[in-house]
Amino acid sequence: MITSEKFKEDVLTLAKEVGVEPKEIHIRAMKRKWASCSSKGRLTFDKTLLNEPKEVRSKVILHELLHLRYPNHGRMFNSLLTAYLKRNMDPSDEGEIKDNQTQKGNGDL
Ligand SMILES: [Zn+2]
Repeated sequence: MITSEKFKEDVLTLAKEVGVEPKEIHIRAMKRKWASCSSKGRLTFDKTLLNEPKEVRSKVILHELLHLRYPNHGRMFNSLLTAYLKRNMDPSDEGEIKDNQTQKGNGDL
C-alpha cells in the first residue's frame, strides 16, 4: 500500500513523460471503475489502487493520462499506451530501482 501523496507523485512523474499536465488529481472510492478523466483535465483514481502493485497502478495512470491527449481508445492511444507501459516496466531503463524498504506487517506487495 502506498500513500495518496506517493500516488500523486507517480501520476505527475508519468504525466511529464507523456507530456500532459493534469489540472487536478483526486483519489477517492469509486464504485464501478479504477479511474476517470474529465475533459477539463481532472483525473480521479479509485483509492483501492493504492493497494495494487506498481504495474497495475502504472497501467491505470498511463491510461488516464493518455486520455488527456486522446479522448478515445483509437490505434494511436493503444500503441502509445503499450509503448509507455513497456518503457516503465523495463528495469534496465532509467526508472527507479525497486529497493524500497519493506512494509511492516504481512508482506503483501
Ligand atoms: Zn479509457
